[in-house]
Amino acid sequence: MNRREFLETVAAAAVVPAFARQGVPANEWESPVFDLHFHLRPQPTSNLAHLDGAGVTKANLLTRGAVLEQVTALQAAAPGRFTWFNSYDVTKPDAEQVLTRAVKDGAQGFGEMKFHVAADGPELRRIYALAADLRVPILIHFQEVDHVANEGTWSTGFAKTFESVLKAYPKTTFIGHADAFWANVSADYRNEAAYPTGPIKRGGLTDKWLGDHPNLFGDMSANSCNNAMSRDLEFTAEFLKRHQDKLFFGSDCGCSDGHGGGVSQNNNPAAARMTGKCVARETLSLLKRSASRDIFHKVVWGNAHKLLQIPA
Ligand SMILES: [Zn+2]
Ligand SMILES: [Zn+2]
Repeated sequence: MNRREFLETVAAAAVVPAFARQGVPANEWESPVFDLHFHLRPQPTSNLAHLDGAGVTKANLLTRGAVLEQVTALQAAAPGRFTWFNSYDVTKPDAEQVLTRAVKDGAQGFGEMKFHVAADGPELRRIYALAADLRVPILIHFQEVDHVANEGTWSTGFAKTFESVLKAYPKTTFIGHADAFWANVSADYRNEAAYPTGPIKRGGLTDKWLGDHPNLFGDMSANSCNNAMSRDLEFTAEFLKRHQDKLFFGSDCGCSDGHGGGVSQNNNPAAARMTGKCVARETLSLLKRSASRDIFHKVVWGNAHKLLQIPA
């Protein structure tokens, strides 16, 4: 779909009050829900279909490249329901200019940053510095193990080098996400699998760094977090209590309807446990079972509003 068709679809959707008719299920989760990790979909109505289907009140659109018109149109069609982050190839020389422009245009963060570079390499370092200058958070995908042959790795070296980054950029707000970030809640992780299983060995790096570094936060989206938080429920309850002010619910769900329709997790064979399921629903249910009402409300709603400095 080109830009004109997109805008026409938005206009049509705004005339037929489909969103208003469906509405947001008032209290399905007994708390409004903010999805920090929602990839902008080309069809405007499909964005709302996922939010409404999963009982999500607001979402943060993760986008890449030039998307201002699409985002503005979607915000106009569903006022108050969407914020956005922007990303851009960090290996390109104009990355800082493009990302600065996106923030001037209303983007409230950088992300999802998912590139085949080292987490402590020069390409990302300049973006860490820029995020501090512009006072926006940066959301990073850390992955050391291929999901499919030759996929390659993303923001590599998390376990070995990222603490030095956290120390070097104290004014940057880092939001960790994906396989390596979540697998490292367990102290015995050695990059042996994308989604390790079994009881959590206490004292993992991610757990420790969330406690030690005020500039590190966690994005609870995708199979990576759901898997980690499903391994050892005693650990999960304690972890949520410990880091209740530093965690954000997110889905990273690709399902069509907020009920597991279509394709979830991009047919990633390593994440087959999510096949036919909506990741948003799975993780919201897990969090609800594992946290007090107050902590659940912070993680699925309050914390994201504080982070983005928007009224809840
Ligand atoms: Zn990701
Ligand atoms: Zn879903």
